[in-house]
Parts: sequence; C-alpha cells; structure tokens
Amino acid sequence: MDEADLANDFAEKFAADALRLARAQMDAAPSTGICKSCQAVIEPERLHANPAARQCCDCAAEDEAARKRAQRLGG
Ligand SMILES: [Zn+2]
Repeated sequence: MDEADLANDFAEKFAADALRLARAQMDAAPSTGICKSCQAVIEPERLHANPAARQCCDCAAEDEAARKRAQRLGG
C-alpha cells in the first residue's frame, strides 16, 4: 500500500464517520411529538422512553414489521 492508497483510505473513513455523526445528530434531535407517518400525537409515555421518537407506537410497529418483511425478502 503506497501513500496515495493510505490517503484514499483515510478520506473514505473520514467521510463515513462524518455521515455517521450527522445521522446520529439527526436521530438525537428531540421529537416534534407528532407522528411523521400518521400525524397523530405521539404517546407521552413513548416520548418519555425515547425523546427522539418520530412515530407513534402503531406506526413504529408497522415500520418495524415492514423492515423485517423486507429483510426476509433478501434486502
Ligand atoms: Zn403514527
């Protein structure tokens, strides 16, 4: 591995880290308290457990189920 490869490797890692950090900051932002899927008010208990919750319990459960279905289909 020469210097150019090392620089490339570093740049890739740096970009990945920056992206991860940006995502983490987005996830950590406080919720609006309104479900992004059905615009219902998110349950206070849920917001207490997860202040960054973006969806009500119903929509979160639905999304999770959809995600698992997609994974099973080989995603
Ligand atoms: Zn909802």
